[in-house]
Amino acid sequence: MKRWILSLLILFFVAPAICQDATEIPVYQQEKESFRELKVTSDRFYNNGNYRKSLETNIELLKLALKLDDAYFKHQSYRLLAYDYLAMSDTVMARENFSKSIRFANESENDTAVAHMYMDLANIYSTIEPNYKKAMKYHNRSVDQLRKINDSVNLAKAHYNTVLTAFDAGKYNEGYAHLLRARKLQKFEPHKAFSVGLDNLMGEYYYSKDNYEMAQKYLRKAIEVAEREGYDLELENAYFYLSECLYNLEEYQEAFLIKDKYENFTISNMENALFAEDNESSVRFQIEEYRKEIQAAELQNSLQAQIVEKQSMLNNVLLIVSFCILFLLLVLYLAYRKRKELVAELRVKNTEYLMAKEESERLSKAKSNFFSTVSHELRTPLYGVIGLSTLLLEDKALKSHEKDLKSLKFSADYLLALINDVLHLNKIDSKTVENEQAYFDVREQINTIVSSFEYMRIQNNNTFFIEIDEDIPKLIRGNSVRLSQILMNLIGNACKFTEEGDIYVSAKLKDISSNKATISFSIRDSGIGIAKSKQDTIFEEFSQGSKQNYNYQGSGLGLPIVRKLLALSNSEIKLESELGKGSTFSFDLSYDVMSKAFRKEPEKPMDTRDLKDKHILIVEDNRINQTVTRKILEREGVICSIAENGEIAVAMEKDNQYDLILMDINMPVMNGLEATRGIRQRNKSIPILALTAVEVEEMRFSIYDSGMDDIIVKPYDITKFTQTILKHINGSNKRSRSQLQAM
Ligand code: ADP
Repeated sequence: MKRWILSLLILFFVAPAICQDATEIPVYQQEKESFRELKVTSDRFYNNGNYRKSLETNIELLKLALKLDDAYFKHQSYRLLAYDYLAMSDTVMARENFSKSIRFANESENDTAVAHMYMDLANIYSTIEPNYKKAMKYHNRSVDQLRKINDSVNLAKAHYNTVLTAFDAGKYNEGYAHLLRARKLQKFEPHKAFSVGLDNLMGEYYYSKDNYEMAQKYLRKAIEVAEREGYDLELENAYFYLSECLYNLEEYQEAFLIKDKYENFTISNMENALFAEDNESSVRFQIEEYRKEIQAAELQNSLQAQIVEKQSMLNNVLLIVSFCILFLLLVLYLAYRKRKELVAELRVKNTEYLMAKEESERLSKAKSNFFSTVSHELRTPLYGVIGLSTLLLEDKALKSHEKDLKSLKFSADYLLALINDVLHLNKIDSKTVENEQAYFDVREQINTIVSSFEYMRIQNNNTFFIEIDEDIPKLIRGNSVRLSQILMNLIGNACKFTEEGDIYVSAKLKDISSNKATISFSIRDSGIGIAKSKQDTIFEEFSQGSKQNYNYQGSGLGLPIVRKLLALSNSEIKLESELGKGSTFSFDLSYDVMSKAFRKEPEKPMDTRDLKDKHILIVEDNRINQTVTRKILEREGVICSIAENGEIAVAMEKDNQYDLILMDINMPVMNGLEATRGIRQRNKSIPILALTAVEVEEMRFSIYDSGMDDIIVKPYDITKFTQTILKHINGSNKRSRSQLQAM
């Protein structure tokens, strides 16, 4: 019977707490409201002992909880179902539902649910499978949990339930401690049934302690309220203990009366219980149905859960994909920004680069102009020195000074070569060097170059060997000036660094097709050789080798020039050398082959006697140069007239008949270009040759444009100088544009 009261009381007391907590769960307001209403209905059925209806309602409650998929609501629904089954003595179902309620209580992580869970476990161990120790352990946990969350209402009930378990087990002292705590918290639970229950328990306690007076006092108080409120079960309990007390106090009459009341209530309650049991048996067949319903609801729920899980998986995939896209977009955006920054940076750098380039071009031009000016300024006096020393050397009267004069000429020649080298290097570097293509005979070219080193050859007592492949076509087309410069440098070096030895200059046909011939040139000497360590550096600018040759001071520019000139023709220099044994420099160059139909024999040198009695006007402001040119020409029997500037020249040409005019470019009063234009207004036919020390490359166009026929660069090779003059006097080379390079 007590167990019956216990389960009733537990549910009666815990129910409001469930409703109260449900409001704290954030779910849709409408469904939350439905849940609460159903819960109130279920409580009403349960408290009225209508367990079938209560069960029905709680199944609906569970369906709603499953639909809401809320752990806390599921916990409550299973819990109420468990109490329904407990009331109907179906302990198997009660246990099953309790275990589900406990599982969802844990899952919900709700403090109140956890407290309920402990309370339910305590009730399981005090009713379904009695185990006092375990029951008290869970009662204590429930008490601790409720104290922790400051839930005074439920704490009062927890203590109350503990008292029931303890008293049921006859542990009155242990139960009394909880009874006192429950009474202290009584004010938080205003329900009258609670105070009746407490008074009943106080009476029971004092009865157990044989304090019948005190027991009587509490039991009468309980009976008074219970009779008024119609708490039949409480009345049955109170009447039982009161009659026992009265009997012990020897008040037999009243004891008998109360006993009578007790028995009446026992019968009516028994009837109620029997009715309930009847009711139970009538609903038992339905329980299976409900069980199936619950299972169906659970199945539906699990299906729904699966769908939800799939949905959530899909959502997760979508989330990951979205994240990836977002990440990609972010990376793209960052890359775009970085690129933008780089482009901006590049623009700035580009502008800076363009400015630097312009500046460097400006400087390079300035350098070029500077070199050009300096070369002119240096070549003009050198022209005088070389020219005069050449003339003086030929003067028999000065035989005793021949050695000094030779030294003078050597130094002047060296100085001129140096100026030419520096100038040449500058031209290659500033890319102003021209690639003039012409037909030439490589045999003649090599022979001429070698013979120009005759003086050096004799000085160092060397022997020349020239080996030219017979298969090399007679006329080839290419940059002959470039080849001369390369050979001059290499043969010059061989002469300088070889004493009493042999120098081989060879040209071999490496490859030939109908229109191209590749020739391998090599210059071999048996001179001092070049140490391995130096073999790379000698091709670097200004890395002049040690001056092992006593009469040689080099600028160290020759080989760098050779290397750069070959690079312009896509070729390179090769060197094989051993110290003390000699050196071999070799390189390949390709030339166009001239078809036989176009070949013409090279012109024979003209007879300089034709110059005799010719009248030439020398237009030159520099006195020494006037003298040099005049003396060279007079040796050939030419009649020379001198004009000191362009203006005088124009006037003189007007009044005289000349065969040819040699015209300097830079002169005071009127320069050579203006003077030529003046003369050409009247006289279109007279040959006018530019005789100048200026860097002709920049001036070439303006020189021809002014009306001049040819250009001779000072200082010049005398033979070529006279040949060029002859060509124009004979009228065989009008505006040939051939040019004599300074040698
Ligand atoms: P330069 O002859 O005016 O010093 P080059 O560039 O022509 O400048 O030569 C660089 C150096 O290479 C020379 O000083 C010399 O030491 C070395 N060299 C060049 N050719 C020869 C050679 N045929 N035999 C020995 N040494 C040579």
